[in-house]
Amino acid sequence: MTDAAPTHMPRPPAVDTVLRWPGMQALIDTHGRTLVLDSLRSGLNHWRAGEIADDSALVTFVQQHIERLLTPSMRPVFNLTGTVLHTNLGRAPLPPEAIEAMTAVAAGASNLEYDLPSGKRGDRDAHVEDWICRLTGAEAATVVNNNAAAVLLVLNALAQRREVIVSRGELIEIGGSFRLPDIMTRANCKLHEVGTTNRTHVRDYAEGINARTGLLLKVHTSNYAVAGFTKSVTEAQLAAIAAEHQVPLMVDLGSGSLIDMQALGLPAEPVVGQILAQGVDVVTFSGDKLLGGPQAGIIAGRADLIARIRKSPLKRALRCDKLTLAALEAVLRLYSNPDTLVARVPTLRLLTRTQSEIEQTATVLLPALQAWAGNDFSADIHPVHSQIGSGSLPLELLPSAAVRLHSNSNNKRLRSRQLRELAERLRRLAQPVIGRIADDSLLLDCRCLESADDLIAQFHADCAQPQA
Ligand SMILES: *Cc1c(COP(=O)(O)O)cnc(C)c1O
Repeated sequence: MTDAAPTHMPRPPAVDTVLRWPGMQALIDTHGRTLVLDSLRSGLNHWRAGEIADDSALVTFVQQHIERLLTPSMRPVFNLTGTVLHTNLGRAPLPPEAIEAMTAVAAGASNLEYDLPSGKRGDRDAHVEDWICRLTGAEAATVVNNNAAAVLLVLNALAQRREVIVSRGELIEIGGSFRLPDIMTRANCKLHEVGTTNRTHVRDYAEGINARTGLLLKVHTSNYAVAGFTKSVTEAQLAAIAAEHQVPLMVDLGSGSLIDMQALGLPAEPVVGQILAQGVDVVTFSGDKLLGGPQAGIIAGRADLIARIRKSPLKRALRCDKLTLAALEAVLRLYSNPDTLVARVPTLRLLTRTQSEIEQTATVLLPALQAWAGNDFSADIHPVHSQIGSGSLPLELLPSAAVRLHSNSNNKRLRSRQLRELAERLRRLAQPVIGRIADDSLLLDCRCLESADDLIAQFHADCAQPQA
């Protein structure tokens, strides 16, 4: 090991010697021997590489190494990207009611699968099923880990070893390797494509149905739009064909919504209850998209089909945990009162913030940000467009406001480097700030920042700290 060390380097001290140093003993008392030893070994490697040359630098390294190890990997960030339901940033922020419900059952036992009136074994779906049915008009409902899992489960439970008819215009990829043809294969179903990319007719489905057909599937193509010479078949038309041939009809709504988004001034999104009312047998949709709840995949529809889905061994593999169910139940309960809904579900609140409200937040934030960024940059308020995110139509943009930072340099390459460095500094803050770089500037969209107070406090605190 020491062969490679340059000859002028002092040899590192022995592990046992270092562990007896008073500074090290204090670290062992606080963090335990294992962690200190791991960090010390790493420190001694740096010593041998010539990056640490004296005892006090070694102790500092070990201290910082332990600190880094003990900093949670997953932690809160400020989402100033302008994308409200940002998949990489954890999608829907939960309402306090959901967080309280999770906390209440997290620490101890709960009646997760225990029927209190009878004292017998219960069903974990029971906590949310009635609410889903009440809010959608469905006969029955069940819940799994996410909507991708819901699609996989329904396909497998209802159409295993059979054909599933889908329009060629709806063979989607959601991103993150969710591609419908692949999911079909994994569900052990045979994909039967009908129609063309831009036009699919009622007769395409009708002619596609045969003795091997197990399911008709319609997918809400939320993350792209086919425009121009197009034709697709409505849920009501499909329901008629499905009923005539006694084949179940499933619709993957993606986001779906329990309420009319247009009434809130937002882009239209299929309303789950309305889709079921067209005669659709089973729908699936996400818990953490427009619903504004925890990650989950909700399956709702005909009681006999839900019963079959629930019996599948895949249901057991894909089920939700108690925390998710507690949060989902709490969020669904908020939907019982439409008058207070928007105020209480953060996702809906953020999506309906007006440009002038957001501009006010940006204006409050601006001076602290300018002071923190320093004289190399100029900050101003800039109108931008936010996105709903998570596959909701990217074309439908929401007017918003950002703090815009640009570099004062005349050199284009220097400006672009300074912006990237600034973005990196923001990501290194105790609660990292995630913005976006566009048009030679760094944009911090304030749609998801309901109050600037905590962020301003962080900028002040960071300014006060000696810079490394
Ligand atoms: C988002 C989406 C999915 C996947 O849902 P997750 O909850 O992310 O698993 C499936 N289908 C459609 C149409 C979607 O938009």
